[in-house]
Amino acid sequence: MPELPEVENARRLIADQALGRRIVAVDDADTFVCRPHSPGELRGALTGRMLTAARRRGKAMWCETSPVLDGASAPGPDLGIHLGMSGRIVVTSPDGWVAEGGDRPGRDAQPRKAEWDRFTLEFADGGWLALFDKRRLGRIVLNPDIDALGPDAAEVTPAQFRALITKGTIAVKARLLDQSKIAGVGNLLADEILWQAKLPPATPVSRLRRQDVDRLDRALRSVLAAATAEGGGAHTGDVIAARRPGGTCPRCGAEMRHGTVGGRSTWWCSREQAGPAAAGELLPEAAGRR
Ligand SMILES: [Zn+2]
Repeated sequence: MPELPEVENARRLIADQALGRRIVAVDDADTFVCRPHSPGELRGALTGRMLTAARRRGKAMWCETSPVLDGASAPGPDLGIHLGMSGRIVVTSPDGWVAEGGDRPGRDAQPRKAEWDRFTLEFADGGWLALFDKRRLGRIVLNPDIDALGPDAAEVTPAQFRALITKGTIAVKARLLDQSKIAGVGNLLADEILWQAKLPPATPVSRLRRQDVDRLDRALRSVLAAATAEGGGAHTGDVIAARRPGGTCPRCGAEMRHGTVGGRSTWWCSREQAGPAAAGELLPEAAGRR
């Protein structure tokens, strides 16, 4: 599932390859992906414009668009692109060279079928941009509402982070996943961040000490930096391969433990992240049998 690094990867692709190219046709016939827009509505809103900037906050991505006519003052609507569970952005150059960005080509990596392009912008130069989404869980929406999202996890300041993380008594992992507080951390990144910070995922945020919050902040920054680097991704974290029955901590060798925190499948080191038990925590033997 795309987390902040995968969306950033798609955003960079659009910023590098798709800006400043005149849109001459729009395929918005997939009324499910393009809901609530009716067929032709996106075409009418975008044809004749150019994408002028690719923006992201957390896992939300949108493109700004130009006026239809050069020199006109009013820009077009923002084009919101949500990658869903496994979506990718595909951009072709005028000579047909294909570039992709977004979720890693995991089990959906079969040869691209045209019918899995759920939304397409065709450029005047002969190239195009498509949302490739086999599972059809992505969304295209004009002027997406991002006001409900907290600051982007890669841009949150230490003071903001401290204030947003520590309010209330919720489990620290659930707080990390709350997109209205800090936007962009998904399940894999949260487990990696908590493991790097050596914090039990079910710790109530009210019990975090100042030094715990500082460690968590540093872990967030280093995990995001690694995950958004070339060849990165949420799945490339140090502890991710150990998130399985029988997995051992890559740092201390202790058994990994599994449970449900914040409603999500969670793995943590039984020695370095020992603490409040998680709801639905499995005994190691039970985990080993799964
Ligand atoms: Zn450990």
